[in-house]
Amino acid sequence: MMSPFIPLFSLRQLNGFQNARYVDPYAGGNGNSVRFTAIVDHHPTMQVRAVENLFCAGEKVGMMVGHTEAMLTGTLAGYNAALFAEGKEGLVLPQTTACGAFIAFCERELSRTEGRNFRYTFSGAIFWDYMLNNGLYSTNRRQISERIAAAGLSGIFSAV
Ligand SMILES: Cc1cc2nc3c(=O)[nH]c(=O)nc-3n(C[C@H](O)[C@H](O)[C@H](O)COP(=O)(O)OP(=O)(O)OC[C@H]3O[C@@H](n4cnc5c(N)ncnc54)[C@H](O)[C@@H]3O)c2cc1C
Repeated sequence: MMSPFIPLFSLRQLNGFQNARYVDPYAGGNGNSVRFTAIVDHHPTMQVRAVENLFCAGEKVGMMVGHTEAMLTGTLAGYNAALFAEGKEGLVLPQTTACGAFIAFCERELSRTEGRNFRYTFSGAIFWDYMLNNGLYSTNRRQISERIAAAGLSGIFSAV
């Protein structure tokens, strides 16, 4: 399913794809995917800066990779789109939470040219180190609940 069907030299003739590359092998197999070709400038609410009534999430944001990352940003984008439709201010997750820290971290890094060379995920690489160094990584549910409660956000996603 992930195998490319367009030869790379043909793909590179398309405007904007001049530097495209296939990641191969991927996950030890022959899978390929054309991804990470654009970065969307967005607010921490996931609202697109250039288009007021558009919210972005997941890999469409740019270098945010993973299912958890797509769920987080997609849920927040939908939540804030609904608030926006009601004329209310969007929710920005505080950086005392791993989710809020992730979104803020990506925003910071993607605004720098060098930061665009990396991928961002909860499951490894640069943000993983950041989580560890800032005491954000935990598998203790009670500790996480307390942290979310302290931010006044208990049950925030279950309300969606
Ligand atoms: C081989 C591989 C292995 C992976 N393994 C893992 C893993 O183990 N764990 C993990 O967390 N993540 C993994 N990932 C990453 C993860 O799959 C993605 O980061 C995640 O699925 C991104 O979700 P998304 O909703 O942003 O995008 P997608 O899941 O790509 O969804 C985007 C959807 O939009 C549709 N679409 C695109 N353009 C249009 C259009 N113009 N109109 C309408 N629809 C459109 C697409 O068909 C697609 O269904 C893996 C990725 C790959 C390629």
